[in-house]
Amino acid sequence: MSDTMPRDLRGYGEHPPVLAWPNGSRVAVSIVLNIEEGAERSVARGDAADDLGGHWLRHPALPDQRNLDLESAFEYGSRAGVWRVLRTLRRHKALATAFCCTVALEANPRVAAALVRDGHEIAAHGHKWDVHTHLSPEEEESRIHRVRDEIAAITGAEVTTWYSRDGITPATRRIMSDSSFAYDSNSFNDDLPHDGADGIDVPVLPYAGDTNDSALLSQYPTARAFGSYLTGALDCLLDDHREGPSVLSIGLHPRLIGRPSCIGALDGLLTRASETGAWIAPRREIVAAWSRRDR
Ligand SMILES: [Zn+2]
Repeated sequence: MSDTMPRDLRGYGEHPPVLAWPNGSRVAVSIVLNIEEGAERSVARGDAADDLGGHWLRHPALPDQRNLDLESAFEYGSRAGVWRVLRTLRRHKALATAFCCTVALEANPRVAAALVRDGHEIAAHGHKWDVHTHLSPEEEESRIHRVRDEIAAITGAEVTTWYSRDGITPATRRIMSDSSFAYDSNSFNDDLPHDGADGIDVPVLPYAGDTNDSALLSQYPTARAFGSYLTGALDCLLDDHREGPSVLSIGLHPRLIGRPSCIGALDGLLTRASETGAWIAPRREIVAAWSRRDR
């Protein structure tokens, strides 16, 4: 197993490939819905401390003691937020990619059923919402396979890819390639999919950390602020005087974007995307359209 992963700081450079998204769209919009609530570290599930990351509620850690406030703030995503997000996506006929943690789907199987019913792409995001960068290649491979099989069993869907909470190791893409995953998203390095390095035949569709609701209520105090950040990114890509089209990746969490104060940002982005003829699609379809380009 190759552990080398050479950096590529050149990429497509000044001349990105001229390829066609369906209907001649300039921009493909990827909506990623992270299904993690209930899978976060918590004393309630036997962890040493609660997961303080990934939420607007800033609480002190309470070692060996449950933080019921924090638990409830995560629960909001699974109980109420996800349904508001799914209603919004349905209204706009928009299909997303769901990064799913096994424990979150087990805690609320109705969410798993609704994701499949609505036609969203199903991807694996961990058994729990855990870190994987310290694992040996053997342990990492067995975790990835376990999660893939768990999520496939719960949803009955093909699990197209793996996205790790805190990034990948030099071995991850080889594991993904050997496991026949369609593509990888564990990267922030481009506006378009690209080939994996080192002869690994798993393409990479980079994700984005800025067009992501994880900064809602801290960096973006209002839905309007976050919404204008998203539509600004879309407008830039629509008007970008470069060769060929682009991808806009948007990362969302039901506990955040699903709040009534925040959902307007998604609604506004989807409205602008359809007004401008952007192509909203699951990530596997974007990668498939990219791979059909003229080489
Ligand atoms: Zn996530």
